[in-house]
Amino acid sequence: MKGKCIIFSAPSGSGKSTIVHWLMQEHPELRLAFSVSAASRQPRPGEQHGVDYFFLTPEQFRAHIEAGDFLEYEEVYGGHLYGTLRSQVEEKLKQGINVLFDIDVKGGVNIKQQFGDEALSLFVQPPSLEELRRRLEGRGTETPEKIEMRLARAEEEMTYAPRFDRVVVNDNLEKAEADTLALVRDFLSH
Ligand code: 5GP
Repeated sequence: MKGKCIIFSAPSGSGKSTIVHWLMQEHPELRLAFSVSAASRQPRPGEQHGVDYFFLTPEQFRAHIEAGDFLEYEEVYGGHLYGTLRSQVEEKLKQGINVLFDIDVKGGVNIKQQFGDEALSLFVQPPSLEELRRRLEGRGTETPEKIEMRLARAEEEMTYAPRFDRVVVNDNLEKAEADTLALVRDFLSH
């Protein structure tokens, strides 16, 4: 049996990555593999090439665009390019492995359109913009200007929620994780 796609998108700081990592670590029976995206930004401390992203130069990234290697790609924050590599997805699906995407809202809508019923798209919604600000500030990885930029973007990204199959509200992490697990299990069971 072919694998299916599970798409996670969210305004940045919504706790999406925490939920994704929890799901993959705690539930190996779901046979999930992460689609490692390509990105033209610099790695943050602790991030590894081939694990978090394939970190490419803008020139390398553009060469992959020319070669048609991306299922989707996009210019996200501050002109950085991010994209989903076909090679990360197609082989795994053929092997019956379910592919998990952690991508921005436009990329999420795009992948869902391409895979239709073979994909479940989940929008992880932070409780409010104020809470989002608190989380971004607490993370301490971004400058104040970058935080303002991300918040402005988050406001726009929130408007994408209705274009996803399901919305998971993350006002309580444990509940959001349990909700996510139930939705993913249900989707993979038929
Ligand atoms: P970050 O730089 O914080 O890791 O990610 C910035 C944004 O890029 C996040 O919203 C993340 O979900 C998004 N992103 C990561 N990979 C991809 C991808 O392959 N395609 C698209 N469209 N967005 C991505």
